[in-house]
Amino acid sequence: MDAVVVGGGIVGLSSAYSLAQAGADVTLLEKGSLGMGSTARSAGGIRSQFSTRVNVELSVASRAVWDDFAERFGVDIAYRKSGYLFVARTEATAERFREDVAMQNDLGVDTEYLDPATARERCPGLIDDRFVAATYNGADGFADPNLAVQGYAEAAREAGVDVRTGTAVTDVRTDGDAVTGVDTDDGRIDGTFVVNAAGAWAGEVAELAGVDLPIAPRRRQIAVVEPTRSVPEDVPLTIDLQTGSYFRPERDGAALVGGQFDEADPDVDPDAYSESLDIDWAATAVERAADWTTYFDGDSRIRRGWAGLYAVTPDHHPIVEETRPGLVTAAGFSGHGFQHAPATGQIVAELCVDGAASLVDVDPLSSRRFEDGEALVERNVA
Ligand SMILES: Cc1cc2nc3c(=O)[nH]c(=O)nc-3n(C[C@H](O)[C@H](O)[C@H](O)COP(=O)(O)OP(=O)(O)OC[C@H]3O[C@@H](n4cnc5c(N)ncnc54)[C@H](O)[C@@H]3O)c2cc1C
Repeated sequence: MDAVVVGGGIVGLSSAYSLAQAGADVTLLEKGSLGMGSTARSAGGIRSQFSTRVNVELSVASRAVWDDFAERFGVDIAYRKSGYLFVARTEATAERFREDVAMQNDLGVDTEYLDPATARERCPGLIDDRFVAATYNGADGFADPNLAVQGYAEAAREAGVDVRTGTAVTDVRTDGDAVTGVDTDDGRIDGTFVVNAAGAWAGEVAELAGVDLPIAPRRRQIAVVEPTRSVPEDVPLTIDLQTGSYFRPERDGAALVGGQFDEADPDVDPDAYSESLDIDWAATAVERAADWTTYFDGDSRIRRGWAGLYAVTPDHHPIVEETRPGLVTAAGFSGHGFQHAPATGQIVAELCVDGAASLVDVDPLSSRRFEDGEALVERNVA
């Protein structure tokens, strides 16, 4: 079986690797260089604290790979398990936290429900009287996305994947209802399957195949900040769910600070958006973080930062499905695509080779949900 993977980010690489492992003859096409789309701009967060079963299941299945990435792929991805802490300001959010923890525990994930004082033991800079409850998982953390790309890319090549960078897919070929390959700026490639792993460009690639998928490129920023009080490296990534403000330790006492604060969240052109940090946004992000932690204040220094793209669907869940015969979609991961890439690659291979996924039930991730009014609700988004 021949498969053509469109996109050389973490999802495309993981898919190509798993397809080759499953015996497929795989060509991966990346219009730029590997990992230089959203993957390189990610914060590298890996967590199991989601509010829908399917996201937790993708986390559990991916965690099995992240946990022994170095042994499997021979690359140390600097995976640091300093935990994730979600904090709630209202009783209504606290009630949802209790439900989420019960669901996660049911799926074998050891998340704890905490009172604010215990939350402050995990994150000593937390101004705990702003909050009524928290959830914590010490096995959550983050890794280096560029190293993960390197590990997957080498393993994919070793498994026989023909990795072609600087090669853009310009059209998707069809025969009746079936997708049969692609045209590129360097010629035609046939495939029994075409995998759309084009991230924030996936809507455009779907359109080439005559399919309308609701995947919107949206700009998100991160600032590297020198806090007024150092953020120790064992402090968890901490998110105030009410405001979306979050931070996590970086090296040497510095912190990454983020959040989406603007009501307006327009679609952007993925080939022509500003990749640099807006200083006004960064000042707001630090101000928001200073409202609920003692690490930041007006003296905190913004060192640098960047912007990247989330590929956003209406319910912040990806589309993972065979969209039409021969066309498998794995895109629309919002802010979770890095961490869910290992499981997604295996699922893509199952969809192509077996015709169905068994690692995780991805039926809820079919694009039919948007027509059937069965969209999921993921509350734990930043
Ligand atoms: C600021 C920020 C922080 C984030 N933090 C996290 C986090 O903490 N944890 C997490 O899990 N996720 C995070 N994410 C999300 C994560 O980065 C993405 O979900 C993930 O990288 C998606 O990977 P991908 O392979 O689908 O997309 P990409 O890495 O964007 O890869 C898609 C590739 O397709 C290529 N392409 C597009 N069109 C074509 C074409 N026509 N022909 C050939 N190639 C094409 C592009 O050049 C691109 O390289 C963050 C994202 C941002 C922006």
